[in-house]
Amino acid sequence: MAAEIIDGKAIAQQVRAEVAEEVATWLEAGHPAPGLATVLVGDDPASGVYVGGKQKASAEVGIEGFDHRLSADATHAQVDALLRELGDDPRVSGILLQLPTPEQVDGGALTEIIDPSKDVDGLTPISAGLLAKGRPGLRPCTPAGVLELLRRHDVELQGAEAVVVGRSDLVGKPVAALLLAQHATVTICHSRTRDLAEVCRRADVLIAAVGKPALVRGDWVKEGAVVIDVGINRTDAGLTGDVDFDGAAERARLITPVPGGVGPMTIAMLLRNTLTAARMQAGEPAWT
Ligand code: NAP
Repeated sequence: MAAEIIDGKAIAQQVRAEVAEEVATWLEAGHPAPGLATVLVGDDPASGVYVGGKQKASAEVGIEGFDHRLSADATHAQVDALLRELGDDPRVSGILLQLPTPEQVDGGALTEIIDPSKDVDGLTPISAGLLAKGRPGLRPCTPAGVLELLRRHDVELQGAEAVVVGRSDLVGKPVAALLLAQHATVTICHSRTRDLAEVCRRADVLIAAVGKPALVRGDWVKEGAVVIDVGINRTDAGLTGDVDFDGAAERARLITPVPGGVGPMTIAMLLRNTLTAARMQAGEPAWT
């Protein structure tokens, strides 16, 4: 079987267009524009590009941007104070602290003080707890993007065998929780899983979020499976995923490429989360 390729770029564009429309309707109803505050500490060029991309995408859909850039020698206390200030600012619907932060700033601890109602990255312990309990909340953007790709391709998750390779707080664990919420039978694998190949061969839906180029071989993929590759690895051959794409595409029914699969979904879901946060703060139903 030659797999159909999931076009993450096109789906992300659709999500962004939908958010733009919903923001316009929100403004017409007399609400203030949703606002996204990004906080970047230091001058790491890659992080600067990521934050710039998030702010540009926000502006395109009518979200107001608050782009805070602190010098590389900013103290932990300064970032802490800024995050609290943004938490109190009614113009700010969502707050994103770009990680990693310089050594003297404990990014993990600071994530925990972000107001959960403004946690558009979905990474605070409150958001993680709501997800674990199956309660409404702001979901981490990349995992939410994975589910959106599956939804837009009508992939049946109820009762499906889903295998997630990777158990990070950022991707693996939240993806697994989201799949479980859709009634999939979920197996989470990690570096100490025995016979990873055999576990992967069970999967109707196989998600790879590891950070190792082509770890998942083509013959680990069940005939007709759906394969979602979250990995982004910089190699001499350019950007590659965690799945041997050519081998997997011979057996899968649907597969994401790298780049152009999951990657573009992250910013799209951040925009959606920012609008959801604005609705929530205005006391409107946020989850439909
Ligand atoms: P991470 O925190 O490094 O976690 C990697 C996970 O893979 C860990 O749970 C680790 O297991 C597991 N692992 C490592 N080697 C393994 C092996 N040989 N067999 C099975 N499992 C193994 O990485 P992450 O933040 O989740 O990111 C994963 C990948 O997704 C990276 O390539 C990253 O760049 C990419 N990513 C993409 C996006 C996007 O598309 N926008 C967003 C986030 C991340 P242990 O827990 O046992 O160590």
